[in-house]
Amino acid sequence: MRVERANAKINLYLNVVGRRENGYHDIVSVMQTVSLCDLVTVDFAPAEHTSICLQSSGNVEMPTDCRNLAWRAAEKFLQATGRRGEVRIILEKHIPMAAGLAGGSADAAAVLRALNALCCNPLTVDELCTLGASLGADVPFCIRGGSALVGGIGERMEDFPAMPQCFLVVACRGEGVSTPWAYGELDQKYSGFVEPAAADSEPEQIRTCWERGALLDSCTHFFNLFEEVVPAVQKDVDALKAILQSASAVRAMMSGSGPSVFGVFACREDAESACLALRGSDAAAFVCHPCGKYPL
Ligand code: ATP
Repeated sequence: MRVERANAKINLYLNVVGRRENGYHDIVSVMQTVSLCDLVTVDFAPAEHTSICLQSSGNVEMPTDCRNLAWRAAEKFLQATGRRGEVRIILEKHIPMAAGLAGGSADAAAVLRALNALCCNPLTVDELCTLGASLGADVPFCIRGGSALVGGIGERMEDFPAMPQCFLVVACRGEGVSTPWAYGELDQKYSGFVEPAAADSEPEQIRTCWERGALLDSCTHFFNLFEEVVPAVQKDVDALKAILQSASAVRAMMSGSGPSVFGVFACREDAESACLALRGSDAAAFVCHPCGKYPL
């Protein structure tokens, strides 16, 4: 049996740079795993027939059948490695769902890491990531974790210096917008991204800052293109960002296509008082910190 952490991800930089013929979008994103996490327990016993059983605690609304990304990850792993057996998965959910924090992708990635370890590593990490990409765009990043510059539709990952330590407050309130709707709005605004986007130096500026440990300087280069369309219809986003800003966040932003937001803080006291203020306004809020890569 293995217990894996499935850490939430935030996007410190997220730009859309193209649209493929199949409708998928090319992105450039600096992604970061944070200490807010689900706990994923996985057990595997070889058997003649395959069965997958998933239980959850912490969020009753989550599907526990083949609609669950963690369930599908187990199925994909067994198919790819030609194994048969009984898989038991227990998800202890803490990451808010459908919030732009990649909770489902993190759980799926944790199942892939756990099953690979329980089966004595039949797949390399690259093979695990290729398998993960067939489950969702954020899964390859969630397999490795840490800090990464992500490109393509999520499958291309470049090493990135570790995010300098700081305090992060992640918060979420209200309904999320659908990610396809948000991409549709951007398609309209940017004429379907037919013109290739000009090279953008911001991720490299973030890299340079982090290499010298200059977190605060790097914050001026953070960006999320979805902030141009989501806050207009999801009013909680700007309301929660304002609470973070008035609690002295160095930077407050939306993550992914929202509605979760995060604030970067230099000191724990400010982060904790921001968290209290957010909870006082009916938001789910967590103080956390950046995490490094998983040991693989
Ligand atoms: P992303 O940032 O990758 O777009 P998200 O954080 O916005 O993801 P999730 O928390 O992964 O969204 O949930 C999106 C939907 O996926 C939920 O509404 C839920 O029904 C479904 N889902 C499937 N598997 C899971 C899982 N293991 N945890 C949470 N949601 C899951």
